[in-house]
Amino acid sequence: MEDMEKYAIVQKDMESFAVVPSTPTGLVTPEVLHRIAEVAEKYQALVKLTNAQRFALVGFKQDALPRLSGELGIPLATPAGSVVRSVKACPGSVTCRLGQQDSLSLGMELDKRYHGRSLPSKFKIAVSGCPNSCAESAVVDFGVIGTRKGFRIMVGGNAGANPRIADELTTVETKEQVMEIAEKVIECYEKNARRGERLGKMIERIGGIEKFREMVLGAE
Ligand code: SF4
Repeated sequence: MEDMEKYAIVQKDMESFAVVPSTPTGLVTPEVLHRIAEVAEKYQALVKLTNAQRFALVGFKQDALPRLSGELGIPLATPAGSVVRSVKACPGSVTCRLGQQDSLSLGMELDKRYHGRSLPSKFKIAVSGCPNSCAESAVVDFGVIGTRKGFRIMVGGNAGANPRIADELTTVETKEQVMEIAEKVIECYEKNARRGERLGKMIERIGGIEKFREMVLGAE
């Protein structure tokens, strides 16, 4: 696999590595679970569930890394760096009795389109199926919250050492409109952010959500 550094994270001992199989929206099949278990057993790896709805497999030597994606039978996620991270989603209307929108299929579509794309800083996306926001859509760079009428789109949130609650950018009615807005937000961020600057910081630097709204959606 080319550019293994993109997929493996060196650990505290500076000798072993962690990898993260790609499981967008946290959905996994029994077959994937079997393969993860087999690989973990073979390499005596530690398996840690992450906050991003993924399995981190920890404890590989460098020479094993190029084989792992093939042995797992699924691609590896890009778990670190200035890229779009795997999309997080709650169960939404597929299984949750409170769900108002299908967060899983929208999350999958966003993941397919953006996961791994290089941007000025890390970029997190989350989709929740109702205003309870179980996927924590208000503390990611691009958050979607399902409502009875459609979707609220939140931008510029982050957790971490200096948390920031996202600003509401707009509301839309359809999944297709969410995808259109996602493209505009990401393009605007890519073009205007400084290196290492998260979206929330950029929004503050340029003068706030009104200014950002104007840049992304034009004068409404
Ligand atoms: S955000 Fe709503 S739809 Fe999603 S899991 Fe929570 S309660 Fe269910």
